[in-house]
Amino acid sequence: MSKKENEKVNDKVVLKENPVQEVREDLLADVSGLISREIPAGVDRRNFLMRSAVGGAAAVMMGRSVSTQQAIAKALATLPPEPQAASPKPPLSADLNVVKKGAGPVLTTADEFYKVGPGPSSSHTIGPMRITYDFYQRATKLPADKLAKATKLQVNLFGSLSATGKGHGTERASLAGLVGKEPATVDPLFLDSLRDKPDQVFPVKLGAKSIDVSLKDVIYDATKGDFKHPNTMTVKLLAGSEVLLEQEYYSVGGGFIEWKGYTPPKKNPPKYPFRLMKELRAHADTNKLSIAKVMLANEMSIAGRSEEEVYAFIDKIINAMVATVKSGLSMPEDDVLPGPIKLHSKAATVYKRAMDDRYAADKGIAALSAFAIAASEENGRGHLVITAPTGGSAGVMPALVYALLEVRKVDRQKVRDGMLAALGIGYLCKHHATLSAAEGGCQAEIGVASSMAAALTATAYDAESLVVENAAESALEHHLGMTCDPVAGYVQVPCIERCAFGAVKAWTAYAIASNEIASRHRVNFDATVMALAETAKDMNSKYKETSEAGLAQSVTLC
Ligand code: SF4
Repeated sequence: MSKKENEKVNDKVVLKENPVQEVREDLLADVSGLISREIPAGVDRRNFLMRSAVGGAAAVMMGRSVSTQQAIAKALATLPPEPQAASPKPPLSADLNVVKKGAGPVLTTADEFYKVGPGPSSSHTIGPMRITYDFYQRATKLPADKLAKATKLQVNLFGSLSATGKGHGTERASLAGLVGKEPATVDPLFLDSLRDKPDQVFPVKLGAKSIDVSLKDVIYDATKGDFKHPNTMTVKLLAGSEVLLEQEYYSVGGGFIEWKGYTPPKKNPPKYPFRLMKELRAHADTNKLSIAKVMLANEMSIAGRSEEEVYAFIDKIINAMVATVKSGLSMPEDDVLPGPIKLHSKAATVYKRAMDDRYAADKGIAALSAFAIAASEENGRGHLVITAPTGGSAGVMPALVYALLEVRKVDRQKVRDGMLAALGIGYLCKHHATLSAAEGGCQAEIGVASSMAAALTATAYDAESLVVENAAESALEHHLGMTCDPVAGYVQVPCIERCAFGAVKAWTAYAIASNEIASRHRVNFDATVMALAETAKDMNSKYKETSEAGLAQSVTLC
Protein backbone atom coordinates (compact mmCIF):
# COMPACT_ATOMS: atom_id res chain seq x y z
CA MET A 1 0.00 0.00 0.00
CA SER A 2 1.44 3.42 -0.91
CA LYS A 3 1.94 6.19 1.60
CA LYS A 4 -0.96 8.10 0.11
CA GLU A 5 -3.22 5.10 0.25
CA ASN A 6 -2.14 4.55 3.87
CA GLU A 7 -3.53 7.98 4.66
CA LYS A 8 -7.01 7.08 3.46
CA VAL A 9 -8.38 4.00 5.01
CA ASN A 10 -12.04 3.15 5.22
CA ASP A 11 -13.09 6.63 4.18
CA LYS A 12 -11.14 8.20 7.06
CA VAL A 13 -8.99 11.24 6.44
CA VAL A 14 -5.81 11.97 8.34
CA LEU A 15 -5.50 15.72 8.68
CA LYS A 16 -1.79 16.38 8.18
CA GLU A 17 -1.86 19.96 9.48
CA ASN A 18 -2.98 18.88 12.92
CA PRO A 19 0.05 18.06 15.10
CA VAL A 20 -2.01 15.53 17.00
CA GLN A 21 -2.94 13.31 14.09
CA GLU A 22 -6.74 13.40 14.20
CA VAL A 23 -8.88 10.93 12.33
CA ARG A 24 -12.36 12.06 11.31
CA GLU A 25 -15.21 10.89 9.07
CA ASP A 26 -14.63 12.13 5.51
CA LEU A 27 -16.80 15.23 5.61
CA LEU A 28 -16.46 15.65 1.89
CA ALA A 29 -18.50 12.49 1.49
CA ASP A 30 -21.51 14.51 2.65
CA VAL A 31 -21.10 18.26 2.48
CA SER A 32 -24.69 19.06 3.41
CA GLY A 33 -23.68 19.99 6.93
CA LEU A 34 -21.25 22.55 5.59
CA ILE A 35 -23.71 24.37 3.41
CA SER A 36 -25.30 27.50 4.75
CA ARG A 37 -29.08 27.32 4.49
CA GLU A 38 -29.39 31.08 4.48
CA ILE A 39 -29.31 32.28 0.91
CA PRO A 40 -29.02 36.05 0.66
CA ALA A 41 -31.70 37.79 -1.38
CA GLY A 42 -30.86 38.30 -5.02
CA VAL A 43 -28.19 35.57 -5.09
CA ASP A 44 -28.42 32.56 -7.40
CA ARG A 45 -29.26 29.62 -5.12
CA ARG A 46 -27.30 26.91 -6.93
CA ASN A 47 -24.20 29.02 -7.31
CA PHE A 48 -24.36 30.14 -3.68
CA LEU A 49 -24.84 26.64 -2.27
CA MET A 50 -21.98 25.28 -4.31
CA ARG A 51 -19.59 27.98 -3.21
CA SER A 52 -20.77 27.77 0.38
CA ALA A 53 -20.09 24.03 0.38
CA VAL A 54 -16.68 24.42 -1.19
CA GLY A 55 -15.75 27.11 1.34
CA GLY A 56 -16.92 25.02 4.27
CA ALA A 57 -15.23 21.89 3.02
CA ALA A 58 -11.97 23.74 2.49
CA ALA A 59 -12.09 25.07 6.03
CA VAL A 60 -12.65 21.58 7.45
CA MET A 61 -9.78 20.21 5.36
CA MET A 62 -7.60 22.90 6.84
CA GLY A 63 -8.69 21.80 10.29
CA ARG A 64 -10.62 24.97 11.05
CA SER A 65 -14.19 25.21 12.19
CA VAL A 66 -16.57 27.45 10.22
CA SER A 67 -19.65 29.23 11.45
CA THR A 68 -22.69 29.70 9.23
CA GLN A 69 -21.98 33.45 9.09
CA GLN A 70 -18.39 32.81 8.00
CA ALA A 71 -19.58 30.40 5.36
CA ILE A 72 -22.05 33.00 4.03
CA ALA A 73 -19.37 35.70 3.99
CA LYS A 74 -16.89 33.40 2.20
CA ALA A 75 -19.45 32.29 -0.35
CA LEU A 76 -20.57 35.84 -1.05
CA ALA A 77 -16.98 36.97 -1.46
CA THR A 78 -16.36 34.38 -4.16
CA LEU A 79 -19.58 35.04 -6.10
CA PRO A 80 -19.03 36.69 -9.47
CA PRO A 81 -20.61 40.10 -9.93
CA GLU A 82 -24.25 39.97 -11.01
CA PRO A 83 -24.40 39.81 -14.79
CA GLN A 84 -25.46 43.08 -16.32
CA ALA A 85 -28.16 41.41 -18.34
CA ALA A 86 -29.57 37.91 -18.33
CA SER A 87 -29.62 35.89 -21.53
CA PRO A 88 -31.84 37.72 -23.98
CA LYS A 89 -35.46 36.71 -23.69
CA PRO A 90 -37.27 35.97 -26.92
CA PRO A 91 -38.80 39.21 -28.07
CA LEU A 92 -42.36 37.93 -28.16
CA SER A 93 -45.15 40.43 -27.87
CA ALA A 94 -47.83 39.61 -25.29
CA ASP A 95 -50.63 40.36 -27.75
CA LEU A 96 -49.63 37.61 -30.18
CA ASN A 97 -52.22 34.85 -30.23
CA VAL A 98 -49.42 32.31 -30.05
CA VAL A 99 -48.54 33.77 -26.63
CA LYS A 100 -52.09 34.26 -25.29
CA LYS A 101 -53.54 30.94 -26.34
CA GLY A 102 -52.37 28.80 -23.39
CA ALA A 103 -55.28 29.91 -21.21
CA GLY A 104 -58.24 28.18 -22.88
CA PRO A 105 -58.81 24.66 -24.14
CA VAL A 106 -56.82 23.27 -27.05
CA LEU A 107 -58.65 24.15 -30.29
CA THR A 108 -56.04 23.28 -32.93
CA THR A 109 -57.18 20.89 -35.66
CA ALA A 110 -55.34 18.24 -37.65
CA ASP A 111 -55.35 20.16 -40.93
CA GLU A 112 -53.80 23.17 -39.22
CA PHE A 113 -51.09 21.02 -37.72
CA TYR A 114 -50.07 18.41 -40.30
CA LYS A 115 -49.27 20.49 -43.35
CA VAL A 116 -47.83 19.34 -46.64
CA GLY A 117 -45.44 21.83 -48.17
CA PRO A 118 -41.96 22.36 -49.55
CA GLY A 119 -38.93 21.99 -47.30
CA PRO A 120 -36.70 22.85 -45.71
CA SER A 121 -38.48 24.81 -42.96
CA SER A 122 -42.07 25.20 -41.83
CA SER A 123 -41.39 28.61 -40.30
CA HIS A 124 -38.93 29.91 -42.91
CA THR A 125 -40.34 28.31 -46.07
CA ILE A 126 -43.96 27.19 -45.66
CA GLY A 127 -44.93 30.07 -43.33
CA PRO A 128 -43.55 32.83 -45.59
CA MET A 129 -45.20 31.24 -48.65
CA ARG A 130 -48.53 31.13 -46.83
CA ILE A 131 -48.01 34.75 -45.80
CA THR A 132 -47.34 36.14 -49.26
CA TYR A 133 -50.15 34.01 -50.70
CA ASP A 134 -52.45 35.50 -48.05
CA PHE A 135 -51.30 39.01 -48.99
CA TYR A 136 -51.77 38.27 -52.69
CA GLN A 137 -55.38 37.25 -51.99
CA ARG A 138 -56.01 40.39 -49.90
CA ALA A 139 -54.55 42.55 -52.63
CA THR A 140 -56.86 41.06 -55.27
CA LYS A 141 -59.82 42.29 -53.19
CA LEU A 142 -58.76 45.97 -53.26
CA PRO A 143 -60.98 48.40 -55.24
CA ALA A 144 -60.18 48.57 -58.95
CA ASP A 145 -59.14 52.25 -58.79
CA LYS A 146 -56.52 51.45 -56.15
CA LEU A 147 -55.21 48.47 -58.06
CA ALA A 148 -54.96 50.59 -61.19
CA LYS A 149 -52.33 52.74 -59.44
CA ALA A 150 -50.21 49.81 -58.17
CA THR A 151 -46.61 49.64 -59.40
CA LYS A 152 -44.76 47.29 -57.06
CA LEU A 153 -45.04 44.44 -54.57
CA GLN A 154 -42.38 44.32 -51.85
CA VAL A 155 -41.55 41.82 -49.12
CA ASN A 156 -39.24 42.69 -46.18
CA LEU A 157 -37.85 39.90 -44.01
CA PHE A 158 -36.78 40.60 -40.42
CA GLY A 159 -35.20 38.82 -37.46
CA SER A 160 -34.51 35.13 -37.90
CA LEU A 161 -36.20 35.15 -41.32
CA SER A 162 -33.53 37.56 -42.44
CA ALA A 163 -30.65 35.94 -40.53
CA THR A 164 -31.12 32.42 -41.89
CA GLY A 165 -33.68 32.87 -44.65
CA LYS A 166 -31.16 32.34 -47.46
CA GLY A 167 -30.47 28.80 -46.28
CA HIS A 168 -34.17 28.09 -46.01
CA GLY A 169 -35.14 29.43 -49.44
CA THR A 170 -37.30 32.08 -47.74
CA GLU A 171 -37.01 34.51 -50.64
CA ARG A 172 -38.05 31.86 -53.18
CA ALA A 173 -40.96 30.73 -51.03
CA SER A 174 -42.05 34.36 -50.54
CA LEU A 175 -41.96 35.01 -54.26
CA ALA A 176 -43.86 31.80 -55.00
CA GLY A 177 -46.68 32.88 -52.65
CA LEU A 178 -46.83 36.32 -54.29
CA VAL A 179 -47.33 34.74 -57.71
CA GLY A 180 -50.24 32.72 -56.32
CA LYS A 181 -48.65 29.39 -55.40
CA GLU A 182 -49.69 27.50 -52.26
CA PRO A 183 -47.36 25.27 -50.18
CA ALA A 184 -49.45 22.09 -50.51
CA THR A 185 -49.64 22.20 -54.29
CA VAL A 186 -46.51 24.05 -55.40
CA ASP A 187 -44.27 22.02 -57.68
CA PRO A 188 -40.85 21.83 -55.93
CA LEU A 189 -39.34 22.12 -59.43
CA PHE A 190 -40.76 25.65 -59.60
CA LEU A 191 -38.80 26.52 -56.45
CA ASP A 192 -35.72 24.78 -57.83
CA SER A 193 -36.01 26.86 -61.00
CA LEU A 194 -35.98 30.05 -58.89
CA ARG A 195 -32.73 28.87 -57.36
CA ASP A 196 -31.18 27.93 -60.70
CA LYS A 197 -32.44 31.03 -62.57
CA PRO A 198 -32.78 33.77 -59.94
CA ASP A 199 -33.39 36.56 -62.48
CA GLN A 200 -36.78 35.28 -63.62
CA VAL A 201 -39.59 37.83 -63.66
CA PHE A 202 -43.24 36.88 -63.16
CA PRO A 203 -46.35 38.92 -63.88
CA VAL A 204 -48.81 39.11 -60.95
CA LYS A 205 -52.36 39.81 -62.04
CA LEU A 206 -54.21 42.18 -59.70
CA GLY A 207 -57.56 43.10 -61.30
CA ALA A 208 -56.84 44.71 -64.63
CA LYS A 209 -53.31 45.49 -63.55
CA SER A 210 -50.28 43.28 -63.99
CA ILE A 211 -47.20 43.89 -61.84
CA ASP A 212 -43.84 42.23 -62.48
CA VAL A 213 -42.16 40.61 -59.49
CA SER A 214 -38.80 38.90 -59.04
CA LEU A 215 -36.51 37.81 -56.23
CA LYS A 216 -35.25 41.42 -56.12
CA ASP A 217 -38.59 42.37 -54.54
CA VAL A 218 -37.85 40.21 -51.49
CA ILE A 219 -35.52 42.14 -49.18
CA TYR A 220 -33.39 40.63 -46.42
CA ASP A 221 -33.90 43.41 -43.87
CA ALA A 222 -32.77 43.95 -40.24
CA THR A 223 -31.85 40.83 -38.30
CA LYS A 224 -32.10 42.58 -34.93
CA GLY A 225 -34.82 44.89 -33.68
CA ASP A 226 -37.89 45.25 -31.52
CA PHE A 227 -40.02 42.73 -33.41
CA LYS A 228 -43.20 41.19 -32.05
CA HIS A 229 -41.87 37.78 -33.09
CA PRO A 230 -38.41 36.66 -34.29
CA ASN A 231 -39.99 35.60 -37.59
CA THR A 232 -41.51 38.91 -38.68
CA MET A 233 -42.07 40.08 -42.24
CA THR A 234 -43.99 42.83 -43.98
CA VAL A 235 -45.62 42.76 -47.40
CA LYS A 236 -46.57 45.93 -49.26
CA LEU A 237 -48.40 46.93 -52.40
CA LEU A 238 -47.00 50.26 -53.56
CA ALA A 239 -47.85 52.99 -56.03
CA GLY A 240 -44.45 54.63 -56.32
CA SER A 241 -43.74 55.64 -52.70
CA GLU A 242 -47.44 55.56 -51.72
CA VAL A 243 -48.45 52.47 -49.73
CA LEU A 244 -51.74 51.06 -51.05
CA LEU A 245 -51.79 48.03 -48.75
CA GLU A 246 -49.37 46.89 -46.06
CA GLN A 247 -49.52 43.99 -43.62
CA GLU A 248 -47.11 42.89 -40.88
CA TYR A 249 -47.02 39.10 -40.49
CA TYR A 250 -45.45 36.56 -38.14
CA SER A 251 -44.47 33.01 -39.03
CA VAL A 252 -44.98 31.55 -35.58
CA GLY A 253 -43.71 27.98 -36.14
CA GLY A 254 -44.94 24.77 -37.73
CA GLY A 255 -46.21 26.74 -40.76
CA PHE A 256 -48.72 28.63 -38.58
CA ILE A 257 -49.02 32.31 -39.38
CA GLU A 258 -50.44 35.37 -37.63
CA TRP A 259 -50.56 39.05 -38.52
CA LYS A 260 -50.93 42.39 -36.73
CA GLY A 261 -54.47 42.44 -35.34
CA TYR A 262 -54.90 38.68 -35.85
CA THR A 263 -57.84 37.03 -34.14
CA PRO A 264 -58.11 33.25 -34.35
CA PRO A 265 -61.03 31.92 -36.41
CA LYS A 266 -64.16 31.01 -34.47
CA LYS A 267 -64.38 27.30 -33.80
CA ASN A 268 -66.94 24.97 -32.25
CA PRO A 269 -66.31 23.84 -28.67
CA PRO A 270 -64.47 20.53 -28.30
CA LYS A 271 -66.46 17.54 -27.06
CA TYR A 272 -63.78 16.86 -24.46
CA PRO A 273 -62.16 20.18 -23.56
CA PHE A 274 -58.61 19.89 -22.26
CA ARG A 275 -55.68 22.18 -21.79
CA LEU A 276 -53.38 19.72 -20.04
CA MET A 277 -52.38 16.10 -20.58
CA LYS A 278 -53.83 15.42 -17.14
CA GLU A 279 -57.26 16.49 -18.42
CA LEU A 280 -56.88 14.71 -21.75
CA ARG A 281 -56.07 11.48 -20.00
CA ALA A 282 -58.88 11.97 -17.50
CA HIS A 283 -61.36 12.20 -20.41
CA ALA A 284 -59.91 9.02 -21.86
CA ASP A 285 -59.92 7.07 -18.62
CA THR A 286 -63.34 8.27 -17.38
CA ASN A 287 -65.00 7.48 -20.69
CA LYS A 288 -63.04 4.26 -21.26
CA LEU A 289 -61.61 5.65 -24.48
CA SER A 290 -58.10 5.79 -25.85
CA ILE A 291 -56.39 9.17 -26.14
CA ALA A 292 -56.77 8.74 -29.91
CA LYS A 293 -60.56 8.40 -29.67
CA VAL A 294 -60.80 11.51 -27.47
CA MET A 295 -58.77 13.37 -30.10
CA LEU A 296 -61.04 12.03 -32.85
CA ALA A 297 -64.18 13.21 -31.04
CA ASN A 298 -62.65 16.67 -30.61
CA GLU A 299 -61.57 16.89 -34.26
CA MET A 300 -65.15 16.10 -35.25
CA SER A 301 -66.72 18.62 -32.88
CA ILE A 302 -64.24 21.51 -33.32
CA ALA A 303 -64.00 21.31 -37.13
CA GLY A 304 -67.54 19.96 -37.74
CA ARG A 305 -66.19 16.97 -39.67
CA SER A 306 -67.41 13.39 -39.86
CA GLU A 307 -65.28 10.50 -38.66
CA GLU A 308 -64.68 9.50 -42.29
CA GLU A 309 -63.49 12.99 -43.14
CA VAL A 310 -61.05 13.06 -40.22
CA TYR A 311 -59.62 9.66 -41.10
CA ALA A 312 -59.47 10.58 -44.81
CA PHE A 313 -57.27 13.53 -43.91
CA ILE A 314 -55.12 11.41 -41.60
CA ASP A 315 -54.74 8.84 -44.42
CA LYS A 316 -53.59 11.60 -46.77
CA ILE A 317 -50.90 12.58 -44.28
CA ILE A 318 -49.85 8.96 -43.64
CA ASN A 319 -49.55 8.37 -47.39
CA ALA A 320 -47.51 11.55 -47.83
CA MET A 321 -45.19 10.47 -45.01
CA VAL A 322 -44.65 7.03 -46.53
CA ALA A 323 -44.05 8.66 -49.92
CA THR A 324 -41.44 11.04 -48.58
CA VAL A 325 -39.45 8.17 -46.99
CA LYS A 326 -39.67 6.11 -50.19
CA SER A 327 -38.64 9.07 -52.30
CA GLY A 328 -35.67 9.81 -50.04
CA LEU A 329 -34.51 6.18 -50.06
CA SER A 330 -34.71 6.06 -53.83
CA MET A 331 -32.34 8.99 -54.37
CA PRO A 332 -28.94 8.06 -55.84
CA GLU A 333 -26.24 7.46 -53.26
CA ASP A 334 -24.01 10.14 -54.78
CA ASP A 335 -26.70 12.82 -54.70
CA VAL A 336 -25.49 16.10 -53.18
CA LEU A 337 -27.95 18.32 -51.34
CA PRO A 338 -28.30 21.95 -52.40
CA GLY A 339 -26.23 24.57 -50.60
CA PRO A 340 -22.69 25.36 -49.55
CA ILE A 341 -22.22 22.35 -47.23
CA LYS A 342 -22.17 20.00 -50.24
CA LEU A 343 -23.63 17.31 -48.07
CA HIS A 344 -23.90 13.90 -49.67
CA SER A 345 -27.17 12.07 -49.36
CA LYS A 346 -26.76 8.95 -47.24
CA ALA A 347 -30.21 7.49 -46.58
CA ALA A 348 -29.91 4.78 -49.23
CA THR A 349 -26.36 3.88 -48.21
CA VAL A 350 -27.21 3.60 -44.53
CA TYR A 351 -30.27 1.49 -45.31
CA LYS A 352 -28.50 -0.87 -47.72
CA ARG A 353 -25.52 -1.44 -45.43
CA ALA A 354 -27.77 -1.86 -42.39
CA MET A 355 -29.40 -4.82 -44.08
CA ASP A 356 -26.03 -6.62 -43.81
CA ASP A 357 -25.76 -6.01 -40.06
CA ARG A 358 -25.30 -9.19 -38.10
CA TYR A 359 -27.72 -8.47 -35.27
CA ALA A 360 -31.41 -7.76 -35.74
CA ALA A 361 -31.34 -4.91 -33.19
CA ASP A 362 -28.50 -3.13 -35.06
CA LYS A 363 -30.38 -3.60 -38.28
CA GLY A 364 -33.58 -2.17 -36.77
CA ILE A 365 -31.93 0.93 -35.31
CA ALA A 366 -29.99 1.66 -38.50
CA ALA A 367 -33.06 1.11 -40.70
CA LEU A 368 -35.19 3.44 -38.57
CA SER A 369 -32.39 6.02 -38.78
CA ALA A 370 -32.22 5.60 -42.55
CA PHE A 371 -35.99 6.22 -42.87
CA ALA A 372 -35.68 9.43 -40.85
CA ILE A 373 -32.64 10.55 -42.85
CA ALA A 374 -34.50 9.80 -46.09
CA ALA A 375 -37.45 12.06 -45.24
CA SER A 376 -35.19 14.73 -43.79
CA GLU A 377 -32.99 14.75 -46.90
CA GLU A 378 -36.14 15.29 -48.94
CA ASN A 379 -36.70 18.34 -46.75
CA GLY A 380 -33.13 19.49 -47.42
CA ARG A 381 -33.81 19.20 -51.16
CA GLY A 382 -36.83 21.48 -50.84
CA HIS A 383 -39.17 18.67 -51.86
CA LEU A 384 -42.62 18.25 -50.35
CA VAL A 385 -42.63 17.21 -46.71
CA ILE A 386 -45.13 17.12 -43.87
CA THR A 387 -44.86 19.37 -40.84
CA ALA A 388 -44.99 17.14 -37.78
CA PRO A 389 -44.52 19.55 -36.20
CA THR A 390 -42.05 21.39 -38.49
CA GLY A 391 -39.97 21.06 -41.65
CA GLY A 392 -36.67 20.66 -39.78
CA SER A 393 -38.15 17.74 -37.86
CA ALA A 394 -39.96 16.31 -40.88
CA GLY A 395 -37.97 13.06 -40.78
CA VAL A 396 -39.05 11.88 -37.33
CA MET A 397 -42.74 10.99 -37.59
CA PRO A 398 -42.46 9.60 -41.16
CA ALA A 399 -39.69 7.25 -39.98
CA LEU A 400 -41.96 5.72 -37.34
CA VAL A 401 -45.01 5.66 -39.64
CA TYR A 402 -42.95 3.90 -42.30
CA ALA A 403 -41.44 1.44 -39.84
CA LEU A 404 -44.82 0.57 -38.34
CA LEU A 405 -46.76 0.31 -41.59
CA GLU A 406 -44.23 -0.91 -44.13
CA VAL A 407 -41.86 -2.95 -41.99
CA ARG A 408 -43.81 -4.15 -38.97
CA LYS A 409 -47.05 -4.32 -40.99
CA VAL A 410 -49.04 -2.87 -38.09
CA ASP A 411 -52.74 -2.53 -38.86
CA ARG A 412 -53.41 0.78 -40.62
CA GLN A 413 -56.20 1.74 -38.22
CA LYS A 414 -53.77 1.54 -35.31
CA VAL A 415 -51.36 3.84 -37.13
CA ARG A 416 -54.23 6.27 -37.81
CA ASP A 417 -55.01 6.27 -34.11
CA GLY A 418 -51.34 6.79 -33.37
CA MET A 419 -51.39 9.87 -35.62
CA LEU A 420 -54.34 11.24 -33.62
CA ALA A 421 -52.63 10.60 -30.26
CA ALA A 422 -49.50 12.30 -31.62
CA LEU A 423 -51.64 15.33 -32.44
CA GLY A 424 -52.60 15.60 -28.76
CA ILE A 425 -48.90 15.80 -27.89
CA GLY A 426 -48.11 18.37 -30.57
CA TYR A 427 -51.13 20.51 -29.69
CA LEU A 428 -50.18 20.63 -26.01
CA CYS A 429 -46.60 21.64 -26.83
CA LYS A 430 -47.87 24.36 -29.16
CA HIS A 431 -50.47 25.46 -26.58
CA HIS A 432 -48.12 25.94 -23.66
CA ALA A 433 -44.67 26.21 -25.17
CA THR A 434 -43.65 26.59 -28.81
CA LEU A 435 -42.98 24.72 -32.04
CA SER A 436 -40.67 27.41 -33.32
CA ALA A 437 -36.90 27.00 -33.18
CA ALA A 438 -36.66 30.79 -33.37
CA GLU A 439 -38.49 30.89 -30.02
CA GLY A 440 -37.22 27.72 -28.33
CA GLY A 441 -34.36 26.07 -30.21
CA CYS A 442 -34.35 22.53 -31.53
CA GLN A 443 -36.07 21.07 -28.46
CA ALA A 444 -39.22 22.69 -29.87
CA GLU A 445 -38.79 20.94 -33.22
CA ILE A 446 -37.06 17.58 -32.93
CA GLY A 447 -38.01 17.29 -29.24
CA VAL A 448 -41.72 17.71 -29.96
CA ALA A 449 -41.50 15.48 -33.06
CA SER A 450 -39.85 12.73 -31.02
CA SER A 451 -42.47 13.05 -28.31
CA MET A 452 -45.25 12.83 -30.90
CA ALA A 453 -43.59 9.80 -32.49
CA ALA A 454 -43.34 8.05 -29.11
CA ALA A 455 -47.09 8.58 -28.57
CA LEU A 456 -47.75 7.31 -32.12
CA THR A 457 -45.76 4.14 -31.48
CA ALA A 458 -47.27 3.44 -28.06
CA THR A 459 -50.79 3.95 -29.43
CA ALA A 460 -50.13 1.76 -32.46
CA TYR A 461 -49.15 -0.99 -30.03
CA ASP A 462 -52.35 -0.56 -27.99
CA ALA A 463 -50.67 0.94 -24.94
CA GLU A 464 -52.92 2.31 -22.21
CA SER A 465 -53.21 6.07 -21.91
CA LEU A 466 -50.67 6.37 -19.05
CA VAL A 467 -48.05 4.52 -21.11
CA VAL A 468 -48.75 6.82 -24.07
CA GLU A 469 -48.21 9.83 -21.81
CA ASN A 470 -45.06 8.34 -20.26
CA ALA A 471 -43.54 7.54 -23.65
CA ALA A 472 -44.26 11.05 -24.95
CA GLU A 473 -42.92 12.59 -21.74
CA SER A 474 -39.71 10.59 -21.84
CA ALA A 475 -38.98 11.48 -25.46
CA LEU A 476 -39.56 15.17 -24.83
CA GLU A 477 -37.64 15.20 -21.54
CA HIS A 478 -34.48 13.97 -23.20
CA HIS A 479 -34.47 16.73 -25.76
CA LEU A 480 -34.85 19.60 -23.27
CA GLY A 481 -32.27 22.31 -23.82
CA MET A 482 -31.37 21.23 -27.34
CA THR A 483 -30.27 24.25 -29.34
CA CYS A 484 -30.83 25.19 -32.96
CA ASP A 485 -27.60 25.98 -34.81
CA PRO A 486 -27.94 25.00 -38.47
CA VAL A 487 -24.60 25.21 -40.26
CA ALA A 488 -24.59 27.98 -42.87
CA GLY A 489 -28.30 28.45 -42.12
CA TYR A 490 -29.15 25.27 -44.06
CA VAL A 491 -31.52 22.69 -42.57
CA GLN A 492 -29.01 19.89 -43.08
CA VAL A 493 -26.37 19.84 -40.35
CA PRO A 494 -27.29 18.92 -37.64
CA CYS A 495 -30.91 18.61 -38.72
CA ILE A 496 -30.83 15.48 -40.91
CA GLU A 497 -29.04 13.20 -38.45
CA ARG A 498 -30.96 14.84 -35.63
CA CYS A 499 -34.17 13.51 -37.17
CA ALA A 500 -32.65 10.02 -36.98
CA PHE A 501 -31.81 10.49 -33.31
CA GLY A 502 -35.30 11.88 -32.66
CA ALA A 503 -36.82 8.76 -34.24
CA VAL A 504 -34.60 6.35 -32.31
CA LYS A 505 -35.23 8.22 -29.06
CA ALA A 506 -38.98 7.96 -29.73
CA TRP A 507 -38.62 4.20 -30.03
CA THR A 508 -36.47 4.08 -26.89
CA ALA A 509 -39.07 6.12 -25.01
CA TYR A 510 -41.77 3.68 -26.11
CA ALA A 511 -39.56 0.72 -25.15
CA ILE A 512 -38.98 2.10 -21.66
CA ALA A 513 -42.58 3.22 -21.13
CA SER A 514 -44.05 -0.08 -22.23
CA ASN A 515 -41.67 -2.13 -20.09
CA GLU A 516 -41.47 -0.08 -16.90
CA ILE A 517 -44.17 -0.09 -14.22
CA ALA A 518 -46.19 2.80 -15.61
CA SER A 519 -47.47 4.12 -12.30
CA ARG A 520 -43.88 4.55 -11.05
CA HIS A 521 -42.97 7.01 -13.82
CA ARG A 522 -42.14 10.11 -11.78
CA VAL A 523 -42.30 12.90 -14.35
CA ASN A 524 -45.60 13.83 -15.95
CA PHE A 525 -45.95 15.22 -19.46
CA ASP A 526 -47.40 18.55 -18.33
CA ALA A 527 -44.36 19.23 -16.14
CA THR A 528 -42.03 18.52 -19.05
CA VAL A 529 -43.97 20.83 -21.36
CA MET A 530 -43.64 23.57 -18.74
CA ALA A 531 -39.90 22.87 -18.62
CA LEU A 532 -39.83 23.17 -22.42
CA ALA A 533 -41.54 26.57 -22.22
CA GLU A 534 -39.25 27.84 -19.46
CA THR A 535 -36.10 26.56 -21.16
CA ALA A 536 -37.24 28.25 -24.37
CA LYS A 537 -37.59 31.55 -22.54
CA ASP A 538 -34.15 31.28 -20.90
CA MET A 539 -32.25 30.05 -23.96
CA ASN A 540 -29.79 32.54 -25.39
CA SER A 541 -31.08 33.90 -28.67
CA LYS A 542 -27.82 32.84 -30.39
CA TYR A 543 -29.14 29.27 -30.22
CA LYS A 544 -32.53 30.03 -31.73
CA GLU A 545 -32.18 29.51 -35.47
CA THR A 546 -29.85 32.45 -35.97
CA SER A 547 -26.74 30.42 -36.87
CA GLU A 548 -24.73 32.70 -34.55
CA ALA A 549 -23.35 29.97 -32.29
CA GLY A 550 -22.88 26.25 -31.73
CA LEU A 551 -22.15 24.09 -34.77
CA ALA A 552 -22.96 27.00 -37.06
CA GLN A 553 -19.84 28.71 -35.70
CA SER A 554 -17.54 25.76 -35.02
CA VAL A 555 -17.95 23.94 -38.32
CA THR A 556 -15.73 25.36 -41.04
CA LEU A 557 -16.85 24.84 -44.61
CA CYS A 558 -14.12 24.46 -47.16
S1 SF4 B 1 -31.15 22.50 -35.66
FE1 SF4 B 1 -33.15 21.59 -35.19
S2 SF4 B 1 -34.53 23.35 -34.96
FE2 SF4 B 1 -32.67 24.10 -35.97
S3 SF4 B 1 -33.17 24.05 -38.15
FE3 SF4 B 1 -32.17 22.09 -37.61
S4 SF4 B 1 -33.84 20.69 -37.10
FE4 SF4 B 1 -34.70 22.76 -37.09
